[in-house]
Amino acid sequence: MILLTPGPVQTAPQTRAAMAQDIAPWDNDFRAVYARIRERVLALAGGVPGEHACLPLQGAGHFIVEAAIRSLVPAGGAIIVPMNGAYAERVLLLARGAGRVAHAWPVPDTRGVTAEDVAAAFAAHPEASHFATVYSETGAGIVNRPEIIGPVLRALGKRLILDAVSAFGALPFSMEDHPECDALVFTSNKCIEGLPGIAFCVARVHALEQGRAGSWSLDLWEILNIALKSGWGSFRFTPPVQALAAFNVALDLFEAEGGQPARLARYRENMRILYEGALKLGLRPYVDQAEQGPIIVTLHQPPGFDLQGFVDALKARGVLISNFYTTKTPSIRIGCIGAISNAEMTRAVAIMGEVLASTAQAA
Ligand SMILES: *Cc1c(COP(=O)(O)O)cnc(C)c1O
Repeated sequence: MILLTPGPVQTAPQTRAAMAQDIAPWDNDFRAVYARIRERVLALAGGVPGEHACLPLQGAGHFIVEAAIRSLVPAGGAIIVPMNGAYAERVLLLARGAGRVAHAWPVPDTRGVTAEDVAAAFAAHPEASHFATVYSETGAGIVNRPEIIGPVLRALGKRLILDAVSAFGALPFSMEDHPECDALVFTSNKCIEGLPGIAFCVARVHALEQGRAGSWSLDLWEILNIALKSGWGSFRFTPPVQALAAFNVALDLFEAEGGQPARLARYRENMRILYEGALKLGLRPYVDQAEQGPIIVTLHQPPGFDLQGFVDALKARGVLISNFYTTKTPSIRIGCIGAISNAEMTRAVAIMGEVLASTAQAA
């Protein structure tokens, strides 16, 4: 099966095989593995030891986004969320659920945030301390570029929380180059191509404060505190050890491939094959090529389209895509990420063509 979902993604057999073992998380052998994973992640994120820390949390991406907002934005404090996609909406909702004031700033879901958007948003809400944005919108497929947003935030003295769940490992980002960034968050199962189960925040240590989170479980300060007291190989709660073992192998494969630039190049080519292939099949992409990111391609559903029927027919031919969409109008979402080669993407596009042709004949 070729899995073209934007998370969880297709993984390599070696990565999956690493899960087939029992592991004691407090065992000294595994503590060293875990400490090393944190070091590697910190380095990948361009973190500076002592200034930044890798703070893993059990669970899904939304948990770490909530933990970051709780741990960095004071209770009653305000953030701005540019609303150009489905994941931005979730950031807004979970920030409000956490008792923070979250201002929704309108931005069309067909383009990334501009410097003017950021400046205008803070002019309207000068009391907000943070800008919380999604790096790669897994809704429509656009990218909010930190190199555009960062300089405006630095000039204004505002802070960044970056949901890089579907971007980290593919799109470049370095904490060292972005001193406005308090938190970069991502998970084990998207562009690093691990299995789901563990989420990561690379945070600026001095931005964390004891007791601020207002949640005992989702407190990044506590995770840092445990690491400082008991070592970087120690856990606060029972971890998904098998997912961590698999993530360690996924990091090896990531490095062997050539790291972030190589992964981005493979995904970009997958995106190009898919985007251009879809155009040839008569499907209309949701965003213009200039705004199209390398992570997910979203296509408008043609009139009278049966999404579940399309998904089932593809699946019968060995290709699995999402059977739901997160855009305001009906769409088809197809991931370009995961352990998928350019040849596999070419094959998947050909199979889409077969399915569309057979449905057209049947109609
Ligand atoms: C996948 C994703 C998440 C988290 O999803 P979970 O199901 O909670 O793991 C968050 N933000 C973005 C941008 C994503 O793509």
